[in-house]
Amino acid sequence: MTNLTVEAFELTRLYGGREAVSNVSFSVMQGQVLGFLGPNGAGKSTTMKMLTGNLAPSAGSVKICGIDMIENPKEAKALIGYLPEMRPLYKEFTVDEYLTIAARLHRVSSKHIKSAVENAKERCGLGHMSKRLIENLSNGYQQRVGIAQAILHKPMVVILDEPTVGLDPNQIRPIRELIKEIGKDHSVILSTHILPEVELMCNHVQIIDKGKMVFNGDIDVLKRHRVGNKLLIGFNNTPSIEALMNINGVTEAELADNNMMRVRFADGSAPHEAIVQAAVRNSWGLYQIAPDQTSLEDVFTQLTHQDAAAELAVESTQ
Ligand code: ADP
Repeated sequence: MTNLTVEAFELTRLYGGREAVSNVSFSVMQGQVLGFLGPNGAGKSTTMKMLTGNLAPSAGSVKICGIDMIENPKEAKALIGYLPEMRPLYKEFTVDEYLTIAARLHRVSSKHIKSAVENAKERCGLGHMSKRLIENLSNGYQQRVGIAQAILHKPMVVILDEPTVGLDPNQIRPIRELIKEIGKDHSVILSTHILPEVELMCNHVQIIDKGKMVFNGDIDVLKRHRVGNKLLIGFNNTPSIEALMNINGVTEAELADNNMMRVRFADGSAPHEAIVQAAVRNSWGLYQIAPDQTSLEDVFTQLTHQDAAAELAVESTQ
C-alpha cells in the first residue's frame, strides 16, 4: 500500500502556443509539506490549478490518492482543499456563515457541518471571530478563514497558493505555524516565491523556473548546498593565495570582502585544522575561521541557472 497522495505526470499547459508549464512530474506523500518555489511567472499557479482540477492540462495527468483527475474529477476534487491566490471569501458573511456555506460546498453531511466548522475554526485560531463579518477582519485573519475553508472537510491534500503573500511579519508567523501543523496529518503543497519560507515550513522542495522543474528534492539537500565546502577566514597578516592553495584539501582561495579570505575545499576533506596550524607557523594572525554560507538567494539564482540546476538535480536524486 502506497501513501502517495499526489502524482503529477508530465504536466504541460500551453497558453496561445507558449508553454507556461512544461513536462512537470512529481509526487507527494502523506505527511509531506512540499514547497513549490519559483519566481513570478514561473508556472506555479498554473500547476496548482491543474493539480486541483481547475484547469485542464494540455498534456499529462494528475492523480489524487490514485484517482485520476480527468476521469473522476468529483472523487479526486473531494480529496483536495484549495486556497487559490485570490481568496474565495464572501466578505459580507460572518466567519460562521461563510464556513457553513463552504462546508456544504465541500459536501460535508448536514449532521457533521457544525462540528466540521468548529474544528476548522479551532485549528485556525478563529474561535473568537465566529460572529465577525469577514470584511472587518485583518488580512491575516481573512487568510486564516481561507485556510479554514480548505481544511474543513479534512481533505487528504491541502493546496495553498502563496499563502503568506500580502501579510505583514506579525501575521505571517502564525500562518506558518498553522501550515506546519496542518502538514502533520495532511499532505500540503504550498507555492511561494520566498525562499526562506520554504526552509521554515517545508520538508520537501521543488523549484520551477520558466515552466520547467529545476530542482526536486529534500530540503536538507538544499541546505547542504547552501553551506557548501567553503570557509571564510580572517587574518591580520593576509597570506598569499598560493600559500593557502598549498594546504592539503584546499582547491580554491580568493580575497573576499573586508580583507577576509574565502577558501573552498574538496568533498570529504576538512582542511580547517591544517589552516590553523599553518597560520600559527607563519604568524598570519588568524582571528576568525567559519563556514561560509551561500545566501539562499544565491542558491536560488544558481538553481534557476541551467548548468548548476543539472548538477544539483543529479545530487537530489541520489
Ligand atoms: P506563477 O504562479 O509562478 O507566478 P503563473 O502560473 O501564474 O506563474 O504563470 C505562468 C506563465 O503563464 C506566465 O508567463 C503567465 O503570464 C502565463 N499565464 C498564466 N495564466 C495565463 C492565462 N490565463 N493566459 C495566458 N497566459 C497566462
